[in-house]
Amino acid sequence: MRLGALEAGGTKMVCAIGDESGKILERAVIPTGTPGVTMPELIRFFGERRIDGLGIGCFGPIELNPDSCEYGCITSTPKAAWRNYPIVGEFAKALDCPIGFDTDVNASVLGEVTFGQAKGKSCVIYLTVGTGIGGGIYIEGKLLHGMLHPEAGHVLVQKREDDLYEGKCPYHKNCLEGLASGPAIEERWGKKGEALADREEVWELEADYIAQALTGYILTVSPELIILGGGVMHQDQLFGMIRRKVTEFLGGYIQTRELEDMETYIVPASLHDDQGILGCLELAKRAVHG
Ligand code: ADP
Ligand code: ZN
Repeated sequence: MRLGALEAGGTKMVCAIGDESGKILERAVIPTGTPGVTMPELIRFFGERRIDGLGIGCFGPIELNPDSCEYGCITSTPKAAWRNYPIVGEFAKALDCPIGFDTDVNASVLGEVTFGQAKGKSCVIYLTVGTGIGGGIYIEGKLLHGMLHPEAGHVLVQKREDDLYEGKCPYHKNCLEGLASGPAIEERWGKKGEALADREEVWELEADYIAQALTGYILTVSPELIILGGGVMHQDQLFGMIRRKVTEFLGGYIQTRELEDMETYIVPASLHDDQGILGCLELAKRAVHG
């Protein structure tokens, strides 16, 4: 089977052609402009390659409820040109194949569960810490949607008293994304995260906020594995700090085999930044098989 995969992001669209075994045969990157400019390029790419199915992992919020007349739309995104855009509908008009659709982070967790280190697990969380923060949740064979889909980047965290930064999120003063995304780091410290590697206080504060959120997810969803990806997580020193803080915040309240071995419980992504696009291939495969 010839499958198409599209990782739709706010700055770039990553397109790939592959098969159900996760083999990628071809890829292309198209900058994200307005739908009027970008969609014809994407449709041309996939149309010329005669795919049997397309999987789209998309920035959000998006409508995933198949009973809604808005199904397949990007909804209240801050990217004005894409607001209320029926991305699935437009591809469906142009390509004669089944289309799978989910959030970018749900695609990433699906990639890790299908092709990566999370194979065989029944409950896994993938959190990306980059320009924004988002979480995908795989639970007992399915990607979690619920009433909308998880928006785990916007959980509220307790702001540290020594942190005078007001936060980057226009909706919440003290949500994780507002306090810990790449742009929040840059605005608080006056430099991009890439240039702050040797400033321990930067990463100690960052780890505190991420660990607070992870502690909440652990207590609510009970994941067997937590995978952290995104640009900010290239700061490897964060992993040890986050693991120690999660252990501290849990306070010994729950004891499991997983929590005893934090090094294998809170881990980096395993697919060399291909977890998203591979997850989109799997979305395409699932759309074809119904
Ligand atoms: P996006 O979220 O836009 O898909 P990324 O996951 O690469 O892309 O996130 C970009 C953000 O991550 C930027 O704010 C950038 O400053 C930050 N970032 C990228 N690389 C690093 C790094 N090595 N260390 C710290 N921050 C980084
Ligand atoms: Zn927020």
